[in-house]
Formats: sequence, structure tokens, C-alpha cells
Amino acid sequence: MAKQGDNMTDVKRTNRSAVLRVLHENGAISRKKLAASIGLTPAAITKITGEMIEEGLLREGEAVFSGGAGRREILLKTDPFSRFALGIFLNKELAVLSAVNLEGTVIFSENAVLPSNAPANETMSALCKRLLELSDRSGIPRDKIIGTGLALRGQVSENGRILKNSFGALKEYDYPIADEAEKLTGIKVVSDNNVRSLFSAHLFFSKDKEISSQFFLRCEYGIGAALSVDSRIWHGGSAQCSEIGHIPIIRKGGKPCSCGKSGCLETIASPSAILDDAKAAFSEDNTPLLYKRMAGREIDDMSLQDVLDSAAGGERATASIVGRSITALAQALKSVIYIIDPEKIVLYGHLFENAYFLDHFIAEMREGVDSGHDVSVEKSRCNLKLEDAAAGLLVIQKFIDEGGL
Ligand SMILES: [Zn+2]
Repeated sequence: MAKQGDNMTDVKRTNRSAVLRVLHENGAISRKKLAASIGLTPAAITKITGEMIEEGLLREGEAVFSGGAGRREILLKTDPFSRFALGIFLNKELAVLSAVNLEGTVIFSENAVLPSNAPANETMSALCKRLLELSDRSGIPRDKIIGTGLALRGQVSENGRILKNSFGALKEYDYPIADEAEKLTGIKVVSDNNVRSLFSAHLFFSKDKEISSQFFLRCEYGIGAALSVDSRIWHGGSAQCSEIGHIPIIRKGGKPCSCGKSGCLETIASPSAILDDAKAAFSEDNTPLLYKRMAGREIDDMSLQDVLDSAAGGERATASIVGRSITALAQALKSVIYIIDPEKIVLYGHLFENAYFLDHFIAEMREGVDSGHDVSVEKSRCNLKLEDAAAGLLVIQKFIDEGGL
């Protein structure tokens, strides 16, 4: 039976959540303005915020003139150091161990190389041990830690507890990662896919939730994406929204993909695909600019920057490889525009810091899209800065959603 009403705890939770959200979005604000923006009476706000001050979540700040008869109003703000969240951001070969406070400020961050071929339990044990060490060393009191966020590469179960396929990050499939992390740390876990976590962090910092529908594209190791509908992140029927990198592009003879299939978009358009193709095409005759750049270096030392600079310098073979990536990626995103009709497409990853790639990509995105679909395509304002905060912010955002209860 559908829920018919709210009990008192739900009402309290909703009101406290609204207080935390308004303070996050506006910074310090008077009780009067807080009451007006939430739509509660000043007396109700005084009671709610009084409890939250007692719990240390909020504190009073400076007094400002309110404009009427010389009255002064005391501003309220969140105490950012009242609560902390730890985080493990799982990439393909690397994890980022970190902690954030209530406003998403990174307290510490350390990269940990994932051992290849080690059992998942061993890897998680080492990561959790190091995470607690870093937390203690940073002086974060254990009783102020409200959870550990796990931002996970690959397919995560609908409730976020099981890492079904990490596409090569951890050895096992269907690994109960949330239970394991809770057992190892004694701290509650909130987990989600890592690209959805980055998108969620982007929304947290950019505060442009009024844009109801956004499509967030991350090109880093592979290609991942996330979607918001009506200002909420959409998980999809099997919690796999949006695995755009694994759209099948080449039916026969495509390169093997990390997901286990072959010929996926990721095998053509991802940064590692561009690099692999450039290495395969590399020769003094075929790629003279790249050849010159690589003088005295091993081919394994070739970077994406080398390839993009050679393409930007007018080298036909590398420009063609980069162009193929741009065309395939843009084609997939144009399908997104016509199917989903998002207001904004947000780009995230090193590739989009390269002017040659970004300019060509934006130009390609305009090709064949009618003026009725005026979607803005832009690089995230927080590009490359979210991996440190995203995992911990999963916990912080849940805490805000639940009113800190
Ligand atoms: Zn794939």
C-alpha cells in the first residue's frame, strides 16, 4: 500500500534536511531568511536550529543589520568540521583514499596503487587499513566520522552493496564490498558507481541543481556517464545508467573491451584507445611528428599529450585516430541528445583540458543537431578535481538528505 502520510520523525527529517541544504547552497543566513526560504514559521526554525546547534551541526556566526529599525540578526551556518566522511574512490589500477568534512573540503587524499591479481579481500584489507591510518594521523576523531563512501568502478548492485563487475579493478565478480569494508573498519558504508559519484560531487559543488536534466560524461581510463532527471541522479532499471562506453559499435573484429565484450565505444574513443591506436600506427614514415617527439624515449612512455600535440601539429595519421575517437564519442552523445533531451552535457576528464580535442569535439557535437535541440555542452567547472572528494561526499549527501539524523 502506498504511503499516505508522514510521521513526526519524517517531518523532522525533512525540515532538518531543508535547513542543511539551504545553508549548503547559500552559506551563512539569518533564521528569518532561513524560515522564509523553507516556508516554516520563525518559531519552528528556532526550535529546529536550536537542536542542531546543540548537536554541533550548526553554529552562530556574525551579527548583521537586518535593515529594520537598526535590528541585528545573527547568521547561522553549518559547522563544517562537526562531521567527517572517509572515502575510497576505485579506479582501474588506482584507488584514492580520502576524507572530507561536511562542506566537502578534502582533509587528506592519497593515491594507492591496486595490486594486480590479488584477491579482493586482500586489496580491501590493505586499503581500509591505510584509510584508517591516514584518518587517525589527520586528527579526525572517530566519533565524528559518519561513514565511508565507496565510489566504485564498474557495475554495482541496485542497493550499492555488491560490486558485480569492476571491469578489472578488483579480481572477483559479485563481491560484497560494502559488507567487507564495514567489517574491516567498523564504519557504515555508502556506495555507488564512481562516475555517478563524480556527477553527484559535481552537482554538490556547482550547485546548479535547478538544471533538472544533465548528462555527465567522464573520459578517463574508459568512458562512463551519469544522468540526472528532474534533478535526481537516475540509476536505471539495473543500476547501470549510463554505461555509454559499452555501447557496441563494431560488430565483428572489434578490439576486446574491459567489460568482456569487444568493439565497444570505449575501445575506439577512450583515452587509452587513442593511445593504443597511436602506438600501433607509430613509425618514422607514418607518424613523423610523433616519431620526433618520442626521440630517445621508449614507445611505452608515449602519452596522450604526445599524440594530441602531434595531431594538432597537422600529422595526418594521429589526427585521423583522434578524429575517429571524436566522431564516435559525439555520435553516441547525439543519440543521448535526441533520446533524453538533457539541458546540459557536462564533460569530465583530462581529454577535455586539451584545446585541440575540446574544440574539435564541440564542433563535431554541433554537426547534424538541429537548432531545436540547443543543449549546452561544457567542461565541468570542477574538472579533474573531484576524485578526492566524490567518495566521501556520497556519505555527506546522504547525511544532508536524512537531515543529519
Ligand atoms: Zn565494453
